Amino acid sequence: MEHFIPLSVPNFEGNERKYVNEALDLGWVSTGGAYIEKLERQLSEFLNTENVAACQSGTSAIHLSLVEAGIGPGDVVIVPPLTFIAAVNPVKYQCAEPVFIDCDDSLCLDPEKLRKFCEQECEFSGGSLTYKGKNVKAVIVVHVFGNLADMENIMAVAEKYNLKVIEDATEALGSKYTEGILKGKSAGTIGDFGAFSFNGNKIITTGGGGAVTARNPKKTDHMRYLSTQAKNDSHYYIHNEIGYNYRMTNLQAALGAAQMEELPEFIKRKQKNFELYKKMFEGFELGRLMEFRPGTSSNKWFYSLVVDREKISAGMRGIITELEKRKIQTRTIWGLINEQIPYLGEITYQLEKAPYYADRILNLPSSTSITEEEIVYVVQQTKEVLELFENG
Ligand SMILES: *Cc1c(COP(=O)(O)O)cnc(C)c1O
Repeated sequence: MEHFIPLSVPNFEGNERKYVNEALDLGWVSTGGAYIEKLERQLSEFLNTENVAACQSGTSAIHLSLVEAGIGPGDVVIVPPLTFIAAVNPVKYQCAEPVFIDCDDSLCLDPEKLRKFCEQECEFSGGSLTYKGKNVKAVIVVHVFGNLADMENIMAVAEKYNLKVIEDATEALGSKYTEGILKGKSAGTIGDFGAFSFNGNKIITTGGGGAVTARNPKKTDHMRYLSTQAKNDSHYYIHNEIGYNYRMTNLQAALGAAQMEELPEFIKRKQKNFELYKKMFEGFELGRLMEFRPGTSSNKWFYSLVVDREKISAGMRGIITELEKRKIQTRTIWGLINEQIPYLGEITYQLEKAPYYADRILNLPSSTSITEEEIVYVVQQTKEVLELFENG
């Protein structure tokens, strides 16, 4: 291969330049302008939900959800250990306390462990759940790599124990259920709140940006209000609450409006490329390609190879460096959040699968612009490198 194959790069094949130039020409570059509302409409339609608010980032979308859910100092929020740290940091912004509960084999929250934690470690009376005297108010569920969590069972536990569900759908725009009671429902529209991200590595990008939605459209309106410094009217600087500077800009939204037009095509390509990877890794002894949940149509944002640790005990760093020499960029999954310095000493509950997968996953190039020839090369080289590291 003559050129480097990156892990994941944005794709601007559509109207991006046209729309951004239009925003520039009109001078609407900041938090006002028609593209913001346009993008919000596009997202509402795509997700089949009534009201979506565009904001600065996925992180701010999660933060606004926590604020709107009434999470404050001393409250407990259940969070995943194996995901990007941005899913958990907003819990700390609210001076609330995270409790880390394990994932299942989909890498998403294990509903059974969630149920056991609520049942065996907490007390439930008068409609509220408490853990060691503190109110357990919400759970953050991440649809990891575009793979949907087991929402049917998670929602059942959440309803039983009166927990607000915040879906971190930052990696899962376009993933939806195709079977079961949630058939037709998209990631981010099932729980009480849904957060999306349009960072550069996500399936569509606005450079940096995000969106938030709530099951109750009035709550989405209120989050939009909070995102514009809680400004009550456009002329007289009346503010009745503490707000944030979290609104998306029109320049970002112009980019996003163009990207939304291409999203269905991006998803198609991701799905097709996954099938090719899957076919090529079939029967490979040293690793298996991670599947997506049955009964769903995933956006297949990221492809993960689960390395067989019985056969390869070498660390991931060596493998990644060797692949880089062969002009292929790969990456490990995240480090466990509960092992990061700001989270040392926080409560964890039955972490088994999270550390298991943290040590085994190799993420493969997944850009929408990757060619078939490049995928063939990536698989060939990855197999060769893993064979090189096989225990002797
Ligand atoms: C990208 C991402 C976020 C944060 O999104 P930003 O737009 O970068 O703030 C949060 N959670 C997960 C799981 C992510 O992948």
